Amino acid sequence: MAGKGIDVITTFCCMPKINVRYTVASKEQRDQRRNYYHDVVRKQFASHLATHHAEKLRILGIPEEQITIMRDRGEGPEGYNIHHKIPLHAGGTNDFSNLILMRADLHCHLHRFVDAKILGLKVGKSRDVVLPFLEGEVCFMQPWKQPGWNPNAPLPVPPSSCWG
Ligand SMILES: [Zn+2]
Repeated sequence: MAGKGIDVITTFCCMPKINVRYTVASKEQRDQRRNYYHDVVRKQFASHLATHHAEKLRILGIPEEQITIMRDRGEGPEGYNIHHKIPLHAGGTNDFSNLILMRADLHCHLHRFVDAKILGLKVGKSRDVVLPFLEGEVCFMQPWKQPGWNPNAPLPVPPSSCWG
């Protein structure tokens, strides 16, 4: 869980990481939080971003009409995902402080990296892992501009479905 004992130790491309004791939450808790996220929180967060961080969305190049749709309907923006910094899978919450908007391609790449680290970990079991971790509610990282960036680099396991 986020909180005590977390230190920024290195970078993933240009993304900070933290050490975290990753404990797989119960299926009931995960399902409950994931359903609430899909039904309620993701729309609230999109609207929140458009209301309070519109300038950051403009810097990312998100068109004005999409920002309006985010604010009024809680949808989108296209090509972006909302990531749980501490995954619901690990007991993370739907608090806005645990959410960040990031480009979908970066998000998928991040999960390919993270998923490989917790492969085979069962409910209630723990493992010390390194998670890419960003402060704030909007991700400006553009690792595809870094030398050596390869989003399709082979990993030892196939990616699992995204945790959202
Ligand atoms: Zn995610």
